[in-house]
Amino acid sequence: MIVEIDPHSGFCFGVTSAIRKAEEELKRGELCCLGDIVHNGQECARLEEKGLRTIDYDDLRTLHHARVLLRAHGEPPSTYWIARQRGIEIIDATCPVVKKLQDRIRACYEQHRMDETQPPQIVIYGQRGHAEVIGLQGQTNDTALVIESADEIGKIDFTRPVYLFSQTTKSVEGFQQLVAAIEEAISRQKSAVRLEAHDTICRSVANRVKQLEEFARAHEVVIFVGGKKSSNAKVLYGHCRAANEHTWFVSNEEELTNEMLAACSEAEHVGICGATSTPLWLMERCKKRIEKWNTTKSKQ
Ligand code: SF4
Repeated sequence: MIVEIDPHSGFCFGVTSAIRKAEEELKRGELCCLGDIVHNGQECARLEEKGLRTIDYDDLRTLHHARVLLRAHGEPPSTYWIARQRGIEIIDATCPVVKKLQDRIRACYEQHRMDETQPPQIVIYGQRGHAEVIGLQGQTNDTALVIESADEIGKIDFTRPVYLFSQTTKSVEGFQQLVAAIEEAISRQKSAVRLEAHDTICRSVANRVKQLEEFARAHEVVIFVGGKKSSNAKVLYGHCRAANEHTWFVSNEEELTNEMLAACSEAEHVGICGATSTPLWLMERCKKRIEKWNTTKSKQ
């Protein structure tokens, strides 16, 4: 049995640099992080052991002169405003790709918001309530409409121009389906309304889908390691599972059941992969557990 870790899996550069920043800043003293630094409980626990304190918005409103790290997902303008009011030092680890998207949405909002004849409609294709989406909505004074899939286009007002953007971790196919559904609805209503669709999906995630599908097909059994709170993990796991039905989702090595371990030991090629929020060390632990189980079994 050969167990291989997918070389393309693991943290994207946005998450890697946020974690690096947290580790550097922890050397300077106490540091809080607004929300989980990454949607992976094990990695959060590792950094908490080094002194990182994870806080929520209620905590933020009670802090004074603390140092608070903003994670890769980014934050709405209201967070910076609260920090200023409370003398909080912001360590901004917003991913540059997310930052650029926030700027584009804000520029679009500012450019069109005074147009009384055709007030704009900024639509964000994303997961309602996701931290990145909250940060994006904040750029429009919370006026942007969030659509999770093409099934929800009934919420769009087709008498107003539509400016469509995407959360960085959504799927390219889902975005294309949404654009096609909106175009069809516009032509059905014989409306002359304008659609401006901006594909703002991060290619560091989008390219992973194809690589991951190939990886899943090249292995008989696949163990996908990801955090239960990670939307990126759910999406990527779905692609793996569609490419290879012998794919299991686990959050850590302890979740590897006897059924999974037995399936691995019967295979010649076992693949371990993960999301953009999965640390390499966690995939390595899963690999070790599978190999150890296999060695013990073969001695029996
Ligand atoms: S997925 Fe892309 S946009 Fe999101 S944090 Fe990672 S690098 Fe940045």
